[in-house]
Amino acid sequence: MILGCHVKMNAPLFLEGSVKEALSYGCDALMLYTGAPQNTVRKPITDMHVREAQQLMEQNHIPMERMIIHAPYLINPANSVKPEVQELAHDFLISEVNRTAEIGAKYLVLHPGSYTTTDPETGIRTCTALLNSIGTLPGNVVICLETMAGKGSEIGTSFEQLEEILSGLDHPEHYGICLDTCHINDAGYDVHDFDAVLDEFDHVIGLRNLKVIHLNDSKNDRGAHKDRHANIGQGTISFDTLHAIASNKRTEHITKILETPYIDKKPPYAIEIAMLRSGKYDQTRLEALRDTEKPQT
Ligand code: FE
Ligand code: FE
Ligand code: ZN
Repeated sequence: MILGCHVKMNAPLFLEGSVKEALSYGCDALMLYTGAPQNTVRKPITDMHVREAQQLMEQNHIPMERMIIHAPYLINPANSVKPEVQELAHDFLISEVNRTAEIGAKYLVLHPGSYTTTDPETGIRTCTALLNSIGTLPGNVVICLETMAGKGSEIGTSFEQLEEILSGLDHPEHYGICLDTCHINDAGYDVHDFDAVLDEFDHVIGLRNLKVIHLNDSKNDRGAHKDRHANIGQGTISFDTLHAIASNKRTEHITKILETPYIDKKPPYAIEIAMLRSGKYDQTRLEALRDTEKPQT
């Protein structure tokens, strides 16, 4: 079971600190933003402790392709309404792809974006054109388009839409898919029958294009189009289903990343990863993270 989670990337250790954090939870994979996801301020790569991070990965026998990079959500490749948004998406995506290559990572997860005031077809065309505008990618970088829940005007909410983007690309070999269990549940897929989901994915997109899985429970019912992640076993997807997904033989080789919420400002990942690896749900351990109510004074 290749399991990681979303980790911080902060001063003073930067990437090295990210790897240390992941290891402290029992992860053998990780995912991070190269800076704040809501802005474009980025530290030079030379200050990010790349060598130290790579060495730490190697010492722990974790291949660098299990260090997943997530592009910031301010990139909206599907927005054709505001030219400045397109320009920012174009420029920032190129710099992010270069950073991914310089770090030595492989997979860059990207939200296909929102069509805002146009329509899904225009959004899909805009996203495809934007990806083609950045040309070939450096090194062995693969941009993984994420399956989206369908909140607001998001595109990429069905396998068909993602396939439409992929089939319009000039360099499809540099692209893949990141499947988010919370998002596809909220988009309407029945994740409880994960083999059927994989069959459909294979039929529409091809299973070889599945590169990363985001393993999250959901606070909402199937088809709610909401996108609110729940802790493992604490949402509508359930522990048993998430454990079945994590242990599915057909996706055994694929890196799975938890993006579950902190509980009272404490990371739940060590507990969630231990539960998934052991196959035993332990609600009391998760609940123990909750601050006990302070007596009223
Ligand atoms: Fe995402
Ligand atoms: Fe996700
Ligand atoms: Zn989400």
